[in-house]
Amino acid sequence: MSPNNFAVEQLRRAQYLPRALFVKAACAGPALALRSRAEMEMEPDFQSFLSAVSRRVLDGGDIVFDEALRLIEATDAADIHDLLARANRIREKFKGNRIHLCSIINAKAGACPEDCKFCAQSAANATESPRYSFVDGEALLKAATEARANKAQALSVVTAWRGLKEGPVLDEVCASIEQIARSGTVRADASLGIIPSQDVADRLKASGLVCYNHNLETARDHFPNICTTHTYDERVQTVRYLKNAGIRVCCGGIFGMGETRRHRIEMAFALKELDVDIVPMNFLNPIPGTPFEHLKPLPPMEILKTIAVYRFILPRKEIMVAGGREVNLRDLQPLMFLAGASATMIGNYLTTTGQDPKKDLQMIEDLGLDPNWDGHWSHAAP
Ligand code: SF4
Repeated sequence: MSPNNFAVEQLRRAQYLPRALFVKAACAGPALALRSRAEMEMEPDFQSFLSAVSRRVLDGGDIVFDEALRLIEATDAADIHDLLARANRIREKFKGNRIHLCSIINAKAGACPEDCKFCAQSAANATESPRYSFVDGEALLKAATEARANKAQALSVVTAWRGLKEGPVLDEVCASIEQIARSGTVRADASLGIIPSQDVADRLKASGLVCYNHNLETARDHFPNICTTHTYDERVQTVRYLKNAGIRVCCGGIFGMGETRRHRIEMAFALKELDVDIVPMNFLNPIPGTPFEHLKPLPPMEILKTIAVYRFILPRKEIMVAGGREVNLRDLQPLMFLAGASATMIGNYLTTTGQDPKKDLQMIEDLGLDPNWDGHWSHAAP
């Protein structure tokens, strides 16, 4: 008898393990064999566990870190399908059937001094991404009109630079935001990098900015593996300045950058603590010439499962599937909404093209969802 089976036999004789569990334990190896019957009873099977946590979230409760970890560690296909269905129910309850659509314009491209390893626009990466300085008002208004025609509610002005300080560049950016806000076409949003002071955030708010995107990108522990020219804490502080200014915050990250499943859960709980409004979930599309060009893309079911677990952790937030959905989800793109997403980007990305907007709108309507978001940030049930 092997040492493992000997230990199991001792437990069975002491009546800690009934016969059926004894057979299962003896076949399963040391980890299972040495667990007591009481421990096994405390851990319900996945279906019972999923049912209990989804009921709690639907009733307005929260899930805790270890529960989220158990959800994201699911590997059985049928378990993952059930997880998506439960996340879909949570989306329906807290967000209704309206899908929030946003567009972006790459308003200043390339030559960024930061060294983000995933980014085609970093000067540190040898990519073929375009380079140009801040675009004029005409280009911004054209993009806003196009975004509106695609049923996007917002146009985010995105720039490839470290961040914004007081000075002529901030003046120019604020004038552009005012121009979009005054046009009445779409909501004026922006993604302009690190904000170094409350004054800068307050200036942006005064210009008519509604929502600002600034991602955490990944978990705190993993952040130094993706960028060394600025810190995770600078990103968190930027979010705090924005919130203090009364600006809505769009803050999420990129998945598939070598992070663990635990890292993904850590980021979700960090976002929950920061109480951000929109959580963009980008999935790495490895760009040739970046240090991450050889990373293997996440499998579609892993992506859908991650979206679903984010819906469990952040039931009332807009969860937006953004960059990388076309290349990574392929024909499974419609399932992102059935996994709990309530928003997506429409049109092109910063350096890559997106799916034809008409196809996206058709996909949303074919699912029985409504692309006419009503402008409410929270559909939270009492
Ligand atoms: S700060 Fe933004 S634009 Fe610059 S390298 Fe990082 S992700 Fe790219």
